[in-house]
Amino acid sequence: MKALCWHGKHDVRYETVPDPKIEEPRDAIIKMSCCAICGSDLHLFNGYMPTMESGDILGHEFMGEVVEVGSGNSRLKVGDRVVVPFTICCGECEQCRRGNFSVCERSNRNKEMADKAFGHATAGLFGYSHLTGGYPGGQAEYVRVPYADVTPVKIPEGLTDEQVLFLGDIFPTGWQAAVACDIQPTDTVAVWGAGPVGQFCIRSAVLLGARQVVCIDHVPERLAMAAAGGALTINFDEESVLDRLKELTQGKGPEKCIDAVGLEAHATRSLDSLYDKAKQAVMLETDRPHVLREMIYVCRPAGILSIPGVYGGIIDKLPIGALMNKGLTVRTGQTHVNRWTDDLLRRIQEGQIDPSFVITHEVPLSEGPGMYKTFRDKQDGCIKVVMKP
Ligand code: NAD
Ligand code: ZN
Ligand code: ZN
Repeated sequence: MKALCWHGKHDVRYETVPDPKIEEPRDAIIKMSCCAICGSDLHLFNGYMPTMESGDILGHEFMGEVVEVGSGNSRLKVGDRVVVPFTICCGECEQCRRGNFSVCERSNRNKEMADKAFGHATAGLFGYSHLTGGYPGGQAEYVRVPYADVTPVKIPEGLTDEQVLFLGDIFPTGWQAAVACDIQPTDTVAVWGAGPVGQFCIRSAVLLGARQVVCIDHVPERLAMAAAGGALTINFDEESVLDRLKELTQGKGPEKCIDAVGLEAHATRSLDSLYDKAKQAVMLETDRPHVLREMIYVCRPAGILSIPGVYGGIIDKLPIGALMNKGLTVRTGQTHVNRWTDDLLRRIQEGQIDPSFVITHEVPLSEGPGMYKTFRDKQDGCIKVVMKP
Protein backbone atom coordinates (compact mmCIF):
# COMPACT_ATOMS: atom_id res chain seq x y z
CA MET A 1 0.00 0.00 0.00
CA LYS A 2 0.98 3.68 -0.19
CA ALA A 3 1.63 5.80 2.90
CA LEU A 4 3.26 9.01 4.08
CA CYS A 5 6.40 8.12 6.01
CA TRP A 6 8.70 10.17 8.26
CA HIS A 7 12.37 10.05 7.33
CA GLY A 8 13.75 12.85 9.48
CA LYS A 9 13.32 16.56 10.01
CA HIS A 10 11.43 18.12 7.06
CA ASP A 11 11.53 14.80 5.19
CA VAL A 12 8.12 13.18 4.58
CA ARG A 13 7.87 10.69 1.71
CA TYR A 14 4.98 9.06 -0.16
CA GLU A 15 6.10 5.47 -0.52
CA THR A 16 5.16 1.82 -0.75
CA VAL A 17 5.05 -0.07 2.55
CA PRO A 18 3.68 -3.48 3.61
CA ASP A 19 -0.09 -3.72 4.19
CA PRO A 20 -1.09 -3.92 7.87
CA LYS A 21 -2.40 -7.21 9.26
CA ILE A 22 -4.65 -8.18 12.14
CA GLU A 23 -2.29 -8.82 15.09
CA GLU A 24 -4.67 -9.10 18.05
CA PRO A 25 -8.24 -10.45 18.26
CA ARG A 26 -9.69 -7.01 19.06
CA ASP A 27 -8.06 -5.34 15.99
CA ALA A 28 -9.70 -4.13 12.83
CA ILE A 29 -8.23 -3.02 9.51
CA ILE A 30 -9.62 0.22 8.10
CA LYS A 31 -9.44 1.23 4.44
CA MET A 32 -8.79 4.96 4.73
CA SER A 33 -11.18 7.21 2.81
CA CYS A 34 -10.08 10.55 4.22
CA CYS A 35 -7.28 11.79 6.49
CA ALA A 36 -5.75 15.09 7.59
CA ILE A 37 -2.53 16.77 8.67
CA CYS A 38 -2.60 18.12 12.22
CA GLY A 39 -0.58 20.81 14.00
CA SER A 40 0.72 17.94 16.12
CA ASP A 41 2.23 16.37 12.98
CA LEU A 42 4.24 19.57 12.58
CA HIS A 43 6.08 18.80 15.84
CA LEU A 44 7.27 15.59 14.12
CA PHE A 45 7.91 17.31 10.79
CA ASN A 46 10.00 19.97 12.53
CA GLY A 47 11.93 17.32 14.43
CA TYR A 48 10.92 18.41 17.96
CA MET A 49 9.63 15.01 19.00
CA PRO A 50 12.32 12.45 19.80
CA THR A 51 11.90 8.70 19.29
CA MET A 52 10.64 8.79 15.71
CA GLU A 53 12.27 6.23 13.44
CA SER A 54 12.95 6.46 9.73
CA GLY A 55 10.05 4.94 7.80
CA ASP A 56 7.40 5.45 10.53
CA ILE A 57 3.94 5.94 9.00
CA LEU A 58 2.48 9.34 9.94
CA GLY A 59 -1.06 10.47 10.69
CA HIS A 60 -3.61 10.30 13.49
CA GLU A 61 -6.65 11.97 11.91
CA PHE A 62 -8.38 9.46 9.64
CA MET A 63 -11.56 7.60 8.83
CA GLY A 64 -12.69 4.92 6.45
CA GLU A 65 -14.35 1.60 5.94
CA VAL A 66 -13.82 -1.52 8.01
CA VAL A 67 -12.38 -4.22 5.71
CA GLU A 68 -11.27 -6.86 8.23
CA VAL A 69 -12.18 -7.60 11.85
CA GLY A 70 -10.31 -9.71 14.42
CA SER A 71 -11.89 -12.78 15.99
CA GLY A 72 -12.44 -11.03 19.34
CA ASN A 73 -14.20 -7.97 17.99
CA SER A 74 -17.98 -8.28 17.96
CA ARG A 75 -18.69 -4.54 17.80
CA LEU A 76 -17.52 -3.80 14.25
CA LYS A 77 -18.39 -5.55 11.01
CA VAL A 78 -16.92 -5.39 7.54
CA GLY A 79 -18.43 -2.46 5.67
CA ASP A 80 -18.94 -0.19 8.73
CA ARG A 81 -17.94 3.42 8.11
CA VAL A 82 -15.95 4.75 11.07
CA VAL A 83 -13.97 7.73 12.33
CA VAL A 84 -11.01 6.60 14.42
CA PRO A 85 -10.04 8.71 17.49
CA PHE A 86 -6.33 9.51 17.67
CA THR A 87 -6.11 8.12 21.21
CA ILE A 88 -5.95 4.33 21.34
CA CYS A 89 -7.56 2.97 24.50
CA CYS A 90 -8.41 -0.35 26.04
CA GLY A 91 -11.75 0.68 27.59
CA GLU A 92 -11.08 -1.45 30.67
CA CYS A 93 -8.26 0.03 32.77
CA GLU A 94 -8.90 2.32 35.73
CA GLN A 95 -8.36 5.49 33.65
CA CYS A 96 -10.55 4.33 30.76
CA ARG A 97 -13.33 3.47 33.21
CA ARG A 98 -13.18 7.05 34.47
CA GLY A 99 -13.32 8.39 30.90
CA ASN A 100 -9.67 9.53 31.02
CA PHE A 101 -9.01 7.84 27.69
CA SER A 102 -5.90 9.81 26.71
CA VAL A 103 -4.06 8.36 29.69
CA CYS A 104 -5.19 4.76 29.18
CA GLU A 105 -2.85 2.58 31.21
CA ARG A 106 -2.62 -0.26 28.71
CA SER A 107 -2.65 0.97 25.13
CA ASN A 108 0.84 2.53 25.06
CA ARG A 109 3.13 -0.43 24.38
CA ASN A 110 6.16 1.68 25.34
CA LYS A 111 4.68 3.17 28.50
CA GLU A 112 7.50 2.09 30.78
CA MET A 113 10.14 3.45 28.44
CA ALA A 114 8.28 6.76 28.17
CA ASP A 115 7.73 7.00 31.93
CA LYS A 116 11.38 6.38 32.62
CA ALA A 117 12.80 8.69 29.96
CA PHE A 118 10.33 11.56 30.12
CA GLY A 119 8.51 11.28 33.43
CA HIS A 120 5.18 10.74 31.70
CA ALA A 121 3.33 8.61 29.19
CA THR A 122 0.08 9.05 27.30
CA ALA A 123 -2.22 6.45 25.85
CA GLY A 124 -1.07 4.85 22.62
CA LEU A 125 -1.39 7.31 19.72
CA PHE A 126 -1.41 6.62 15.99
CA GLY A 127 1.56 7.83 13.96
CA TYR A 128 3.09 9.70 16.85
CA SER A 129 6.52 8.33 17.75
CA HIS A 130 7.65 5.37 19.80
CA LEU A 131 7.09 7.42 22.93
CA THR A 132 3.37 6.89 22.34
CA GLY A 133 3.52 3.23 21.40
CA GLY A 134 4.99 3.33 17.88
CA TYR A 135 1.65 2.61 16.18
CA PRO A 136 1.66 3.12 12.39
CA GLY A 137 -0.52 6.08 11.45
CA GLY A 138 -3.47 6.78 9.23
CA GLN A 139 -1.94 8.81 6.41
CA ALA A 140 -1.98 5.51 4.58
CA GLU A 141 -4.32 3.45 2.42
CA TYR A 142 -4.91 0.93 5.22
CA VAL A 143 -4.52 1.18 8.99
CA ARG A 144 -4.51 -1.40 11.75
CA VAL A 145 -6.68 -0.16 14.62
CA PRO A 146 -5.90 -1.80 17.98
CA TYR A 147 -8.75 -2.13 20.54
CA ALA A 148 -11.08 -1.46 17.63
CA ASP A 149 -13.99 -2.76 19.71
CA VAL A 150 -13.66 0.38 21.89
CA THR A 151 -12.82 3.61 20.09
CA PRO A 152 -14.05 3.81 16.44
CA VAL A 153 -17.12 5.99 16.01
CA LYS A 154 -19.72 4.52 13.65
CA ILE A 155 -21.01 7.14 11.23
CA PRO A 156 -24.67 7.17 10.22
CA GLU A 157 -25.82 7.71 6.63
CA GLY A 158 -26.21 11.20 5.26
CA LEU A 159 -23.02 12.86 6.49
CA THR A 160 -19.98 13.48 4.28
CA ASP A 161 -16.44 12.46 5.26
CA GLU A 162 -15.53 16.14 5.53
CA GLN A 163 -18.33 16.75 8.05
CA VAL A 164 -17.28 13.96 10.44
CA LEU A 165 -13.52 13.42 9.97
CA PHE A 166 -12.58 15.93 12.67
CA LEU A 167 -14.54 13.99 15.33
CA GLY A 168 -11.31 11.96 15.65
CA ASP A 169 -9.28 14.85 17.02
CA ILE A 170 -9.57 18.60 16.50
CA PHE A 171 -13.30 19.05 17.13
CA PRO A 172 -13.25 17.17 20.48
CA THR A 173 -9.92 18.88 21.24
CA GLY A 174 -11.40 22.36 20.82
CA TRP A 175 -14.53 21.24 22.66
CA GLN A 176 -12.66 19.74 25.62
CA ALA A 177 -10.54 22.89 25.89
CA ALA A 178 -13.69 25.03 26.01
CA VAL A 179 -15.52 22.72 28.43
CA ALA A 180 -12.44 22.89 30.70
CA CYS A 181 -13.10 26.65 30.94
CA ASP A 182 -16.42 26.16 32.78
CA ILE A 183 -17.82 28.93 30.59
CA GLN A 184 -20.31 31.30 32.25
CA PRO A 185 -22.60 33.62 30.25
CA THR A 186 -20.60 36.65 31.47
CA ASP A 187 -17.20 35.27 30.47
CA THR A 188 -14.66 36.53 27.99
CA VAL A 189 -12.70 33.60 26.56
CA ALA A 190 -9.37 34.45 24.91
CA VAL A 191 -7.97 31.89 22.47
CA TRP A 192 -4.31 32.05 21.43
CA GLY A 193 -3.81 30.43 18.01
CA ALA A 194 -6.21 30.50 15.05
CA GLY A 195 -5.00 27.20 13.61
CA PRO A 196 -7.49 24.34 13.19
CA VAL A 197 -7.55 23.64 16.94
CA GLY A 198 -8.02 27.32 17.81
CA GLN A 199 -10.90 27.50 15.31
CA PHE A 200 -12.71 24.67 17.11
CA CYS A 201 -11.99 26.25 20.50
CA ILE A 202 -13.67 29.43 19.24
CA ARG A 203 -16.75 27.70 17.81
CA SER A 204 -17.07 25.57 20.95
CA ALA A 205 -16.78 28.58 23.28
CA VAL A 206 -19.51 30.31 21.25
CA LEU A 207 -21.74 27.18 21.38
CA LEU A 208 -21.15 26.97 25.14
CA GLY A 209 -22.43 30.52 25.54
CA ALA A 210 -19.43 32.76 26.23
CA ARG A 211 -20.27 36.47 26.27
CA GLN A 212 -17.21 37.32 24.19
CA VAL A 213 -14.53 35.26 22.43
CA VAL A 214 -11.24 36.88 21.42
CA CYS A 215 -8.66 35.22 19.16
CA ILE A 216 -4.95 36.05 18.96
CA ASP A 217 -2.77 35.14 15.95
CA HIS A 218 -0.94 36.93 13.15
CA VAL A 219 -2.03 35.06 10.02
CA PRO A 220 -4.69 37.19 8.27
CA GLU A 221 -6.66 34.27 6.72
CA ARG A 222 -6.79 32.49 10.05
CA LEU A 223 -7.92 35.61 11.88
CA ALA A 224 -10.60 36.10 9.20
CA MET A 225 -11.90 32.55 9.80
CA ALA A 226 -11.88 33.21 13.56
CA ALA A 227 -13.95 36.35 13.00
CA ALA A 228 -16.40 34.39 10.83
CA GLY A 229 -16.75 31.98 13.76
CA GLY A 230 -17.77 34.78 16.10
CA ALA A 231 -14.48 35.98 17.62
CA LEU A 232 -13.00 39.44 17.97
CA THR A 233 -9.43 39.26 16.70
CA ILE A 234 -6.02 40.56 17.74
CA ASN A 235 -3.04 40.47 15.38
CA PHE A 236 -0.03 40.17 17.68
CA ASP A 237 2.27 41.68 15.03
CA GLU A 238 0.20 44.84 15.00
CA GLU A 239 -0.92 45.53 18.54
CA SER A 240 -0.19 44.72 22.17
CA VAL A 241 -2.08 41.56 23.10
CA LEU A 242 -2.17 42.40 26.79
CA ASP A 243 -3.31 46.02 26.31
CA ARG A 244 -6.07 45.04 23.90
CA LEU A 245 -7.32 42.18 26.08
CA LYS A 246 -7.48 44.53 29.09
CA GLU A 247 -9.33 47.09 27.00
CA LEU A 248 -11.93 44.49 25.98
CA THR A 249 -12.53 43.48 29.61
CA GLN A 250 -12.80 46.79 31.49
CA GLY A 251 -9.18 46.48 32.55
CA LYS A 252 -9.71 43.14 34.33
CA GLY A 253 -8.52 40.57 31.79
CA PRO A 254 -10.39 37.58 30.33
CA GLU A 255 -11.81 35.10 32.84
CA LYS A 256 -10.76 32.17 30.65
CA CYS A 257 -7.64 31.75 28.47
CA ILE A 258 -6.95 28.93 26.00
CA ASP A 259 -3.50 28.10 24.57
CA ALA A 260 -4.21 26.51 21.16
CA VAL A 261 -0.65 27.06 19.99
CA GLY A 262 1.64 24.77 21.98
CA LEU A 263 5.24 24.00 21.19
CA GLU A 264 5.47 25.78 17.85
CA ALA A 265 5.10 29.27 19.34
CA HIS A 266 8.14 28.69 21.49
CA ALA A 267 10.18 26.81 18.97
CA THR A 268 12.48 29.31 17.34
CA ARG A 269 15.90 29.03 15.79
CA SER A 270 17.32 28.95 19.32
CA LEU A 271 15.58 25.62 19.95
CA ASP A 272 18.12 23.41 18.24
CA SER A 273 20.99 24.59 20.40
CA LEU A 274 18.94 24.19 23.56
CA TYR A 275 17.75 20.69 22.78
CA ASP A 276 19.56 18.62 25.33
CA LYS A 277 19.70 15.08 24.06
CA ALA A 278 21.19 13.73 27.24
CA LYS A 279 18.28 14.88 29.38
CA GLN A 280 15.75 14.51 26.57
CA ALA A 281 14.42 17.86 27.69
CA VAL A 282 13.68 20.98 25.74
CA MET A 283 14.34 24.34 27.38
CA LEU A 284 12.54 26.95 25.40
CA GLU A 285 13.16 30.64 25.04
CA THR A 286 11.58 32.60 22.28
CA ASP A 287 11.64 35.82 20.33
CA ARG A 288 7.87 35.56 19.85
CA PRO A 289 5.26 36.39 22.46
CA HIS A 290 5.32 33.60 24.99
CA VAL A 291 1.74 32.32 25.07
CA LEU A 292 1.79 30.70 28.50
CA ARG A 293 3.41 33.75 30.06
CA GLU A 294 0.89 36.08 28.43
CA MET A 295 -2.01 33.96 29.66
CA ILE A 296 -0.74 33.96 33.24
CA TYR A 297 -0.22 37.74 33.26
CA VAL A 298 -3.50 38.71 31.60
CA CYS A 299 -5.98 36.17 33.01
CA ARG A 300 -8.38 37.57 35.60
CA PRO A 301 -7.68 36.39 39.18
CA ALA A 302 -9.44 33.09 39.96
CA GLY A 303 -9.63 32.42 36.21
CA ILE A 304 -8.87 29.28 34.24
CA LEU A 305 -6.03 28.53 31.82
CA SER A 306 -6.91 25.73 29.43
CA ILE A 307 -4.01 24.28 27.45
CA PRO A 308 -4.84 21.95 24.54
CA GLY A 309 -1.59 23.04 22.81
CA VAL A 310 0.94 20.22 22.91
CA TYR A 311 4.19 20.56 24.85
CA GLY A 312 7.16 18.30 25.36
CA GLY A 313 10.10 18.59 27.70
CA ILE A 314 10.57 21.64 29.91
CA ILE A 315 9.41 25.20 29.41
CA ASP A 316 11.36 27.69 31.48
CA LYS A 317 10.64 31.11 32.96
CA LEU A 318 6.95 30.80 33.72
CA PRO A 319 5.75 33.37 36.29
CA ILE A 320 4.71 30.87 38.93
CA GLY A 321 4.23 33.74 41.43
CA ALA A 322 1.47 35.30 39.33
CA LEU A 323 -0.07 31.89 38.70
CA MET A 324 -0.18 31.13 42.41
CA ASN A 325 -1.15 34.53 43.80
CA LYS A 326 -3.91 35.07 41.25
CA GLY A 327 -5.33 31.68 42.17
CA LEU A 328 -5.45 30.47 38.58
CA THR A 329 -6.54 26.96 37.63
CA VAL A 330 -4.62 25.13 34.89
CA ARG A 331 -6.30 22.39 32.87
CA THR A 332 -4.52 20.55 30.09
CA GLY A 333 -3.96 17.20 28.44
CA GLN A 334 -4.32 15.17 25.32
CA THR A 335 -7.99 14.91 24.44
CA HIS A 336 -10.19 12.16 25.89
CA VAL A 337 -11.76 11.88 22.45
CA ASN A 338 -14.38 9.21 23.15
CA ARG A 339 -15.74 11.25 26.07
CA TRP A 340 -17.17 13.75 23.57
CA THR A 341 -17.85 11.95 20.29
CA ASP A 342 -21.50 10.91 20.86
CA ASP A 343 -22.52 14.44 21.84
CA LEU A 344 -20.53 16.11 19.05
CA LEU A 345 -21.82 13.71 16.38
CA ARG A 346 -25.35 14.60 17.50
CA ARG A 347 -24.55 18.32 17.24
CA ILE A 348 -23.27 17.80 13.67
CA GLN A 349 -26.40 15.84 12.76
CA GLU A 350 -28.57 18.59 14.22
CA GLY A 351 -26.76 21.19 12.15
CA GLN A 352 -25.39 23.12 15.15
CA ILE A 353 -21.98 23.03 13.47
CA ASP A 354 -20.48 21.79 10.21
CA PRO A 355 -16.81 21.03 10.97
CA SER A 356 -15.86 21.08 7.28
CA PHE A 357 -15.65 24.91 7.50
CA VAL A 358 -11.98 24.59 8.48
CA ILE A 359 -10.84 22.76 5.30
CA THR A 360 -8.88 24.92 2.86
CA HIS A 361 -7.00 22.22 0.91
CA GLU A 362 -8.17 18.83 -0.35
CA VAL A 363 -5.57 16.77 -2.26
CA PRO A 364 -4.59 13.17 -3.09
CA LEU A 365 -2.40 11.46 -0.46
CA SER A 366 0.47 11.47 -2.98
CA GLU A 367 0.70 15.26 -2.60
CA GLY A 368 1.11 14.93 1.18
CA PRO A 369 4.85 15.68 1.34
CA GLY A 370 4.36 19.10 -0.27
CA MET A 371 1.31 19.77 1.86
CA TYR A 372 3.30 19.39 5.09
CA LYS A 373 5.33 22.42 3.97
CA THR A 374 2.30 24.36 2.75
CA PHE A 375 0.55 23.80 6.10
CA ARG A 376 3.63 24.54 8.19
CA ASP A 377 4.37 27.78 6.33
CA LYS A 378 0.68 28.78 6.10
CA GLN A 379 1.14 29.31 2.35
CA ASP A 380 -1.75 29.74 -0.02
CA GLY A 381 -4.18 30.49 2.83
CA CYS A 382 -3.69 26.99 4.21
CA ILE A 383 -5.58 26.23 7.41
CA LYS A 384 -6.49 22.52 7.20
CA VAL A 385 -5.34 19.90 4.69
CA VAL A 386 -7.48 16.86 3.96
CA MET A 387 -6.07 13.99 1.87
CA LYS A 388 -7.70 11.07 0.08
CA PRO A 389 -6.09 7.95 -1.37
P1 NAD B 1 -1.21 25.15 13.87
O1 NAD B 1 0.26 25.09 14.00
O2 NAD B 1 -1.84 25.11 12.54
O3 NAD B 1 -1.77 26.46 14.60
C1 NAD B 1 -1.07 27.18 15.55
C2 NAD B 1 -1.41 28.65 15.35
O4 NAD B 1 -0.79 29.40 16.42
C3 NAD B 1 -0.88 29.23 14.05
O5 NAD B 1 -1.94 29.83 13.31
C4 NAD B 1 0.16 30.25 14.50
O6 NAD B 1 0.23 31.39 13.65
C5 NAD B 1 -0.35 30.62 15.88
N1 NAD B 1 0.67 31.19 16.77
C6 NAD B 1 2.01 30.95 16.78
N2 NAD B 1 2.60 31.67 17.76
C7 NAD B 1 1.61 32.36 18.38
C8 NAD B 1 1.61 33.28 19.46
N3 NAD B 1 2.72 33.58 20.09
N4 NAD B 1 0.41 33.81 19.82
C9 NAD B 1 -0.74 33.50 19.18
N5 NAD B 1 -0.78 32.62 18.14
C10 NAD B 1 0.38 32.07 17.75
O7 NAD B 1 -1.72 23.94 14.78
P2 NAD B 1 -3.17 23.32 15.18
O8 NAD B 1 -3.44 22.16 14.32
O9 NAD B 1 -4.19 24.37 15.30
O10 NAD B 1 -2.80 22.76 16.62
C11 NAD B 1 -2.55 23.66 17.69
C12 NAD B 1 -1.94 22.94 18.86
O11 NAD B 1 -2.88 21.99 19.38
C13 NAD B 1 -0.68 22.15 18.53
O12 NAD B 1 0.25 22.29 19.58
C14 NAD B 1 -1.17 20.73 18.48
O13 NAD B 1 -0.14 19.82 18.76
C15 NAD B 1 -2.20 20.77 19.57
N6 NAD B 1 -3.16 19.67 19.58
C16 NAD B 1 -3.47 19.14 20.78
C17 NAD B 1 -4.36 18.11 20.90
C18 NAD B 1 -4.68 17.56 22.25
O14 NAD B 1 -5.16 16.43 22.35
N7 NAD B 1 -4.48 18.29 23.32
C19 NAD B 1 -4.97 17.60 19.76
C20 NAD B 1 -4.68 18.17 18.52
C21 NAD B 1 -3.76 19.21 18.45
ZN1 ZN C 1 -4.24 15.96 15.62
ZN1 ZN D 1 -7.38 1.81 29.17
